[in-house]
Amino acid sequence: MTTPNKPAPAPATNFLRNIVEADLAAGRYAEKHWAGHPGSASELAGAPLDPARIRTRFPPEPNGYLHIGHAKSIALNFGLARDYGGVCHLRLDDTNPEKEEQRYVDAIVDAVRWLGYDWTAFGTEHYYHASDYFDFMYEAAEALIMAGHAYVDEQSPEEIRAMRGTLTEAGTDSPWRDRPPEESVARLREMRDGKHPDGSMALRAKIDMASPNMNLRDPVLYRIRHATHHRTGDKWCIYPMYTYAHPIEDALEGITHSICTLEFEDQRPFYDWLLNHLRELGLLEAPLPHQHEFARLNLTYIITSKRKLLQLVNDGHVSGWDDPRMPTILGLRRRGYTPEAIQLLCERTGASKSDSWIDYSLLEQALRDDLDPKAPRTVAVLRPLKLVITNYPEGRTEECSAPRHPHHPEMGRRTFPFGRELWIEQEDFEETPPKGFFRLFPGNMVRLKYGYVVKCTGFVKDEAGKVVEVQAEYLPDTRSGTPGADSVKVKGNITWLHAPTAVPAEIRLYDRLFTEANPSAGGKDFIEYLNPSSVETIQGYLEPGTDGTPGTSYQFERFGYFVADREDSSTLAPVFNRTTTLRDTWK
Ligand code: ATP
Ligand code: MG
Repeated sequence: MTTPNKPAPAPATNFLRNIVEADLAAGRYAEKHWAGHPGSASELAGAPLDPARIRTRFPPEPNGYLHIGHAKSIALNFGLARDYGGVCHLRLDDTNPEKEEQRYVDAIVDAVRWLGYDWTAFGTEHYYHASDYFDFMYEAAEALIMAGHAYVDEQSPEEIRAMRGTLTEAGTDSPWRDRPPEESVARLREMRDGKHPDGSMALRAKIDMASPNMNLRDPVLYRIRHATHHRTGDKWCIYPMYTYAHPIEDALEGITHSICTLEFEDQRPFYDWLLNHLRELGLLEAPLPHQHEFARLNLTYIITSKRKLLQLVNDGHVSGWDDPRMPTILGLRRRGYTPEAIQLLCERTGASKSDSWIDYSLLEQALRDDLDPKAPRTVAVLRPLKLVITNYPEGRTEECSAPRHPHHPEMGRRTFPFGRELWIEQEDFEETPPKGFFRLFPGNMVRLKYGYVVKCTGFVKDEAGKVVEVQAEYLPDTRSGTPGADSVKVKGNITWLHAPTAVPAEIRLYDRLFTEANPSAGGKDFIEYLNPSSVETIQGYLEPGTDGTPGTSYQFERFGYFVADREDSSTLAPVFNRTTTLRDTWK
C-alpha cells in the first residue's frame, strides 16, 4: 500500500477499466443511437452526445442518507466517466413511494456535489428520476403482456411466495399464468385505474418457474401501492419493481456500463431478458446497456446497513445522521474528512470481483495523506496544566514565531506570545519520572517548542494531592532561532501556550464507534459493540489566531487533524473535532 505523505498514485487499473477500454477499442458504442426513444432521458435532454462515449450512472434510492459505501459507487461511476471522456448520470431511483422523501433527494444531491462530482456534461444536466419513465414502463408492460411475456397474477403475495419453490425444488406455475393476454391487459388497466386494493394482484414476467435462478421464476414487475409519490403525487397507484424499472432506466438513458454491487449478479439474466424482449418489441434499440458487478466496499469498525444506522440515530446512540462518528457522508464531513481523502480511499481500494474487508485505518491514512501537505499547523493544549516561569518578569511578553507549515514556507509564519504564565500538557510533567521520561520533572530541562529552554524548579499540589502548577526558570540565551538556541542540549521538547492569550475551546476527541472490526458478525447484537469511549469532550486552549470558522481544518501539533465543527463552532467560541490522530494508535 502507499506510504504516508507520498502523492497519490495514478488510479490503479481494475477490471472495470479494462472492460471499458476493451469496449471502446472494439467500437462497441460507435453505433449507439443517442436520440433515444419517446420520453427517454436523451430526448428529454435534447442533446444527443458524441456516439463513442461511455455513460455510467449512480442510481441511489432516496430512502436514506448516503454513506461511505455509496461514495465508493459514486467514485467508480463518476471516475470512469471522467477518465474516459464520458458522462455519469445522477439518477434518483424513486420507485418505492412509501419509503422515499424529498429531503433525502436533497441530501443525496448535496452529498454527490460535495464529494466533487458533477453530472453536467456537454451543456446538459444529466440528472434524472426513475419516475420520469413511469409512462414508458407502463406501456412496455402492456407490450410484454401482448407478446406473451407477462401476465397479471391474482394470487396474494403470500401465495406467490409459497409457489416460488426453493433452491432445490422447482416452483409451481400460477393458475393465472396462461390467461389470455387481453385479459391480463384489462386487469393491468384496472390496477392502474385504482380498481383493486394493494396486494390483490400483480404483474409478473412469464419466464420459467423451474429455473435454477430464482430471479427468473416469473418475477413480479408491478405491484399495487395506493401511496402518494414525492414527485408524481397520486397519478399512479401501481409502481414498478426495482428489478423491472432499473434496466429500463439504464436503457432509456443510453447507459453503456451499468455498474452495481455483486449481490445483483443473479439479476443480470433478468436484466438481459427484459431488455432483449423490449428490443425485439421495438421499444428499445441496440446496443443495450450491460450490467457489471463489483465487490461492495466493506470497511471495518463501521456499519452501512440503513436499518442499523437508523437504529443508532433513533435510539440516541449518536446525535443524528451527521454525528461525526457516523459513516454517512454528512458524518464524515462533519468529522473533518475531505472529499479528496474519500476519493483517495476509493481509488486505493480499486474495484474487485470478490468481497473483502478494508481496514478502517486506510480511510484515516487517506485523510492524513490529503491533509498533511495542506493543513496549517497550530498548537493546542488539550489537558492544561499551569507552568509559571518564575524568573520571567510579570507583565512582560515577547513574540515567538513558527512556520504555518514545516514544508511550505510560502504559507508564511504565525506568531504568538511568550510570557510568565503558560499552559502545558498535564502529561508533560511528572513528579517522579518513569524511566525514559525526558519532559518536565524537578531539576530537568526541556525546550518549550519555538521558545526557550526551561528548567523545572518546583510544583504546587492542591489539597487532594493533584499537581496544579509547575514552576520553572527560563534560560534567556536559548531562544529558538537565535545563535544561543543550541548552547544547551535537552532531550525533551514540549508544546505550550501563553495562558493569558490562549483561546479557550471545546474539543471533541472522537474515536471509532465500534470496538469490533465487524460489529454485525460478532455473535451479539451490534449495539453491544458500541465503543463506550467513542467521544470525549474536553475544554482546552488554542494558539491565538486559530480560526474556528466551521469546516476549517488544522493539524494540532503532536495530536492530529482537527476540524472546526460545522454546527457548533464559531470564531468567538471555537469547537474542534478530532478527525484522526497523527498515527494509527488504535489498540
Ligand atoms: P438499499 O438496501 O436501500 O437498496 P443501498 O445501500 O443499496 O440500500 P441504494 O440507494 O440502492 O442503497 O444504493 C445506490 C448505489 O450505491 C447502488 O448502486 C449500490 O450498489 C451502491 N452501494 C451501496 N452500498 C455500497 C457499498 N458498500 N459499496 C459499494 N457500492 C455500494
Ligand atoms: Mg440498493
